[in-house]
Amino acid sequence: MYGKRTIDFVRFLLFCCFITLKEVFLLILDMHTHAFPDAIAAKALPKLSTICGCPYHTDGTLVGTQEKMKEWGVDAFTLMHIATTPTQHTSVNNWAASIQKENVICFGSVHPNAEDPVAEIQRIHSLGLRGIKFHPDYQEFFVDDPRLFPLYEEAASLHLPVTFHTGRDPLSPTLVHASAEKMAKIADLFPTLTIIAAHMGGMDTPDEAETFLLGKANVYLDTAFASHYLTPTQCEHMIRTHGLNRVLFASDSPWSRSCDEREFLERCGFSSRELDQLMGENACELLSIS
Ligand SMILES: [Zn+2]
Repeated sequence: MYGKRTIDFVRFLLFCCFITLKEVFLLILDMHTHAFPDAIAAKALPKLSTICGCPYHTDGTLVGTQEKMKEWGVDAFTLMHIATTPTQHTSVNNWAASIQKENVICFGSVHPNAEDPVAEIQRIHSLGLRGIKFHPDYQEFFVDDPRLFPLYEEAASLHLPVTFHTGRDPLSPTLVHASAEKMAKIADLFPTLTIIAAHMGGMDTPDEAETFLLGKANVYLDTAFASHYLTPTQCEHMIRTHGLNRVLFASDSPWSRSCDEREFLERCGFSSRELDQLMGENACELLSIS
């Protein structure tokens, strides 16, 4: 009824539609970035840079970060905030809530030594923040300290995913507060808690991550800073061992550029379909972003 040319033309149109839709829906979401209020960004970055011994690639402000993310091909990013003193988390979370929008996703912070940290978790939830970030080195606690358990229970009951800085940190190079072994213990004790073990389950400690943490069903890994301490072969092996659907692309900007971390993942041997999952689909599913 229809000539071959017509059928080929229709096929071509369908192919174009598919490519266009793929472009429209393919989202690059960087799940681990940092920015600071304008008043402190200029001081915070050099100070933190001295501690971690690495350069910074944004000016640390929200606007500066947005500009860099655009330049690096990132559509949306998650800002991780950290209250480093017990009195800080209220203002940190208020600021996070004030800047959150469609493509700027914010995780809140709670300091375990604050007067009523569980209440702050409830406030994080009511402010509409999408998760919680703990940095056990800067907040001086071990992740398996039982005084944290009510906080984990509350986060789990409110379905707030919790990101932990995991593994070594230059601030506390010899004392690891969130080892992969301890994170595995928490994952087992709180099976309904969604854990994001940053830095591939352990900065600078891939063997420990593989021994204790990889494969845990309630654990996601983020790839923040991975290009600095893993080879592409190691990274691919870890991601496949853990489960590709529970790994989230992340840079740790301003400490690493999203485009460099993305390029590193592209060198790891994944198919383009798998890269789509890693670069944004897994995060969208986790955060219920349509
Ligand atoms: Zn970070």
